[in-house]
Amino acid sequence: MKCLVKSRAEVGLWMETRPIPEIGPEDVLIRVKKTGICGTDIHIWNWDDWAARTVPVGLITGHEFAGEIVEMGAQVEGLAIGQRCSGEGHLIGKHSRQSRAGKFHLDPATRGIGVNEPGAFAEYLRLPAFNVVPLPDSIDDEIGAILDPLGNAVHTALSFDLVGEDVLITGAGPIGIMAAAVARHVGARHVVITDVNPARLALAAEVADVTAVNVATEDLREVMARLKIVQGFDVGMEMSGNQAGLDQMIDALVMGGRIAMLGIPPGKSPVDWSRIVFKAITIKGVYGREIFETWYKMIAMLENGLDVRRVITHRFRVDDFATGFEVMRSGASGKVVLEW
Ligand code: ZN
Repeated sequence: MKCLVKSRAEVGLWMETRPIPEIGPEDVLIRVKKTGICGTDIHIWNWDDWAARTVPVGLITGHEFAGEIVEMGAQVEGLAIGQRCSGEGHLIGKHSRQSRAGKFHLDPATRGIGVNEPGAFAEYLRLPAFNVVPLPDSIDDEIGAILDPLGNAVHTALSFDLVGEDVLITGAGPIGIMAAAVARHVGARHVVITDVNPARLALAAEVADVTAVNVATEDLREVMARLKIVQGFDVGMEMSGNQAGLDQMIDALVMGGRIAMLGIPPGKSPVDWSRIVFKAITIKGVYGREIFETWYKMIAMLENGLDVRRVITHRFRVDDFATGFEVMRSGASGKVVLEW
């Protein structure tokens, strides 16, 4: 089968031919139809410090996918050949206290497909049946291929009650934009999204009914005054990993405000803890998706009018993967989907 492999410890990914994976009794084999390119895949392509530390050379990459079940292990129940599906890319252990309590997304033994284990940038993917998420007919393969990052957005956005709240999102990448759409969908009052990249801000305003603010040229305080956000935002979602973004968010939050943090700062960053203490701010770190509550809520919202399709800005056949990665690396795209 065709697959995209981190063949060498240098910049790039390479198309290779590998045998179709053999499945165990509790696995399914999925014929992959569409995949999304993630920021994580860009780190792996660039072979930065994190990637070099984490990803074994020779690994099949990719973790955002939709496809169809073509083979099932002997012990798999409740699924069928031909079932369209996406799936949770975090492979969890079953022994930790968290797992045994049903908090699968908090299992410390989690391993990720396309990062630690063979991934989805391939014609065929082996996945534990447990991880499969069947897709209803109303969700096509293209949307199925971005449920992983939409799940990050949904997990972050649903961390705190948003009904009637004023929400600030720092970072208008695809996940920030989708989180904004989710915040609107569930009934936030004002949703303001900030970035310094005009193309991303334009995309944010196109995908969701939000106020897009370029903090390089506009004053957030003036925007708040215009929207009559008097005391500050109630909820923040930090999606940029940018220290200045978090700093500005803490500044713009109300007393007792809450922050869900998905963006990853590049290293140890200086934080003004006294402001966090005196403002009585709660910060929650968000990792992955709640397994499988986020998937349930996400599919329910998609079936009830949540529309994130326009966040997909580019589509390529997999033979053009290098162009797809180039577009992603330019920073001027939304989601890029590869067709297998
Ligand atoms: Zn991803």
